[in-house]
Formats: sequence, C-alpha cells, structure tokens
Amino acid sequence: MQYPTPRHLTNLLSINTQASNAHELEGKVACECGSEEFEVLFVGKRNEEKQRHFMQVVKLGGRWFLRVGARCVSCRREHLIFDSHFHGWNGYVCTDEQVQRIARPPFQEWRCQQCHSKTHKLTVSILGEDMEHAIGESDDALTEADWFEAFGWLIVETACTSCNLGPCRIVDYETM
Ligand SMILES: [Zn+2]
Ligand SMILES: [Zn+2]
Repeated sequence: MQYPTPRHLTNLLSINTQASNAHELEGKVACECGSEEFEVLFVGKRNEEKQRHFMQVVKLGGRWFLRVGARCVSCRREHLIFDSHFHGWNGYVCTDEQVQRIARPPFQEWRCQQCHSKTHKLTVSILGEDMEHAIGESDDALTEADWFEAFGWLIVETACTSCNLGPCRIVDYETM
C-alpha cells in the first residue's frame, strides 16, 4: 500500500507509483487544465547554503509562516501546496484556530537561482508514519479516515523550464 494523498493535494498531484511506498508519496504537480508548468509562490524566507537556494519559515507579525503555492502558467489558477498552519502534523493535529484565522501574508514569487525565470516544473514528496503509529501518537485526534493528513515531512523540488536547472530541493521541512 502506498501512503495516501492528503485531501488538499488530490486534484493536484500526479502520483509516481514507482517512487512511492507506504511511507513516502511522490508526485509531480499537474494542473487540472493539463499544464505542468507553474510559478512558485511562497511565504517564507529565502535562504542560501552551499550555493543552494531554499525556503524556510519566516516570522511575520510575531507568527511563524511557511506557505507554498503554485500558479499555473497556462490557466493562471493558484493552487495551495502547503501551509504550515493547516497541513502536516503541527497544522492538522496541533491546530491553532486563532492563527488559522489570521490573514495570510502576501505571496512572494520564487525565481530560479541561476537564470531568475519564474516558471518551473514541480515535484512534491510527502513523508509519514504508518496508520497505527500516527493514530497512536495523536491521542486519538486522528482516525483511519484522516491520519495521513498529519504527514511528518514535506519536500518540494523544482526544475527550471528556461535553463533546466534542477531538481532543486527548495523545501525540506519537518512538520512537527
Ligand atoms: Zn492550469
Ligand atoms: Zn533557470
């Protein structure tokens, strides 16, 4: 059995069954219109380490945010890939309703570190525990119907459609 797809990603991820297993779900981001090219949007801090650019949580107005979106270059629809206040372990199990009600800070656009183009192809990986472990750890906050919403790790990789740089791991984030 492969790790189930979190609800907010079901219409967005085209699952790579070869690369996926019980603890990891990998898929490319694909818009309902058929396009696989996106502008990457984010609320976070752009950081650089060993010539590798990636995003981390950012503190704005006394709150920590990490939010990732993808705007389809073909139909311009905006898709939400991750918001640390709603998705993954902390967002889903340790929910803070007060923080969820705060207006999200505006998105910034992610640009290729090499050619500064905005357009990318995207791969998302979700890593998580098995059902029994997840439900047990959650003090019964999770059930068989939704335990996979509390995934523990998110990875987002980009490939630039202009200069072909990639895969670049721009998000590597533990959600708990
Ligand atoms: Zn589209
Ligand atoms: Zn590029």
